[in-house]
Amino acid sequence: MASAISNTVLDIDRIRAEFPILHRETQLGAPIIYLDSAATSQKPRQVIDIMSRYYEQQNANIHRGIHRLAEEATQSFEEARNKIAHFINANSSKEVIFTRNTTEAINLVAYSWGRANLQAGDMLLLTEMEHHSNLVPWQMLAAEKDLHLEFIPVTDEGLLDWTAFEHFLLREPRLVAFTHMSNVLGTINPAAEMVSLAHQAGALVLIDGAQSAPHLKVDMQTIGADFYAFSAHKMCGPTGIGVLYGREKLLASMPPFLGGGDMIRRVHLRSFTPNELPHKFEAGTPAIAEAIGLGAAVDFLESVGLEKIHQHEQLIVSYALERLEEIPGVVVYGPRPEKKGGVVSFKLDGVHPHDVAQLLDTVGIAVRAGHHCAMPLHERFHLPATTRASFYLYTMEQEIDRLVEGLYKVKEIFS
Ligand code: PLP
Repeated sequence: MASAISNTVLDIDRIRAEFPILHRETQLGAPIIYLDSAATSQKPRQVIDIMSRYYEQQNANIHRGIHRLAEEATQSFEEARNKIAHFINANSSKEVIFTRNTTEAINLVAYSWGRANLQAGDMLLLTEMEHHSNLVPWQMLAAEKDLHLEFIPVTDEGLLDWTAFEHFLLREPRLVAFTHMSNVLGTINPAAEMVSLAHQAGALVLIDGAQSAPHLKVDMQTIGADFYAFSAHKMCGPTGIGVLYGREKLLASMPPFLGGGDMIRRVHLRSFTPNELPHKFEAGTPAIAEAIGLGAAVDFLESVGLEKIHQHEQLIVSYALERLEEIPGVVVYGPRPEKKGGVVSFKLDGVHPHDVAQLLDTVGIAVRAGHHCAMPLHERFHLPATTRASFYLYTMEQEIDRLVEGLYKVKEIFS
C-alpha cells in the first residue's frame, strides 16, 4: 500500500502492478526494494509481452523479405521508430537512428562526424560531470586527430560553472557535449540555454540524454541540440537498443559509421552507395524485438505522462534528501531538489560504499556503489566512490523509509 507522498501525483499502486519484478520477494519474504533505476529501469508487463508476442507471432528479418511475416515485422519496427520520433518531437523519423545504447550513439557521432569534420588543434568542450560514455569516445578521437579537450568545471553544489562555460565559448569550440542529467549528482543542466549559447559561439551540440529521456519531457524542437543520445533500458524498455537523434541535414552530410547490410543502396566489388537516412547508420540486422519493446515503453511512459513522472520523482527525491540528511555521518552530493532528478549519491562516514550496498542488500534493498562510470567527477569531489539510490515512477516513500532504516543498521554494525 502506498501512502501520501507517493500518491500525490501518480496512482502508485496501479503503476507498480504493471511491473512483475517489483512483486518478487527477497529471501526476507518482502518485495524487493529497487533503488537502482539509474543503472537500468524495471520493465512493465506490456513491454515484456510485446516482445514475446513478436517472437511468437511475427519473427522475421526486416526490410528484405517480401513474405507476410517480414512485412509485419518491418512495419512493427518502423512504427516503433515513428513513436520515438513523436516522443522526442523530432522533425521526422529519419532523424531517429537505432543504436545499441547511448554509448554507441555517442561513439557514432565521434567516429562519423568527428573524423570527417575535425582537424588538429580543434577544441571540444565537455564537462567534469560526464559519464565515461561521453568522455572516452572524445578522448580517443582527440588522440587520433590531435584535438584539444576542455571541461566545464562543476561547482561544490554540483552545478556547472556558468562563468567558465561562457569563457570557454569565447575560444570557439567545434562541439559542446554534455549530459542533460548527471547520473551521480542528479543535476539537471539547462539544456536549451546551453545549446543556444553554444550555437551562438558556432559550436554543434551533443547531449547525453541517458538519464533525462526516461524522466523528463525532452523536446528536440525546444532543446535545439544537434545530437541527442539515449538508451531504452533506462526508460522501461529492453537492453540492446538505444537511439541517436540527429538533425536530418547533419546526419545526411555524415559518412556511415559501420559498413554491411541494410546501410547500402548498391554495392560493387570496389565501392558502395550508402542507403538513405535513417538506414545509412544501421548496418546489419538490428535489434528488432528490442525496438518494438522500446516502442511499447514509450507508449507506457506517455500514458503515465512525463511531466507527472518528473513531479513524482521530485517529491520522492525531496523526501529522500530530507530523510538522509537526518542521519549523522551521511553526506549527500549534488544540488537541491529543484535542480535535480531522482538520483541521490552519498557517503556514510567511516563505511566504504561497497559495504553499505552489500549490507543494504541483505535487507532486500538494491542500491549501487562505486564510481558509477564517472571517475573524474568522483575525483573532483575527492571521493573514491559513493553509494547511489536512484528512483523512478514506481518508487514509494516507504522504500525511502526502509533505506533510512537500513542505513541506521549499517551504522550500528560499523560503530
Ligand atoms: N550517460 C549517462 C549519463 C549514463 O547514466 C549512462 C548509463 O549509466 C550512460 C551514458 C551509458 O548508457 P549505456 O550503458 O546504456 O550506453
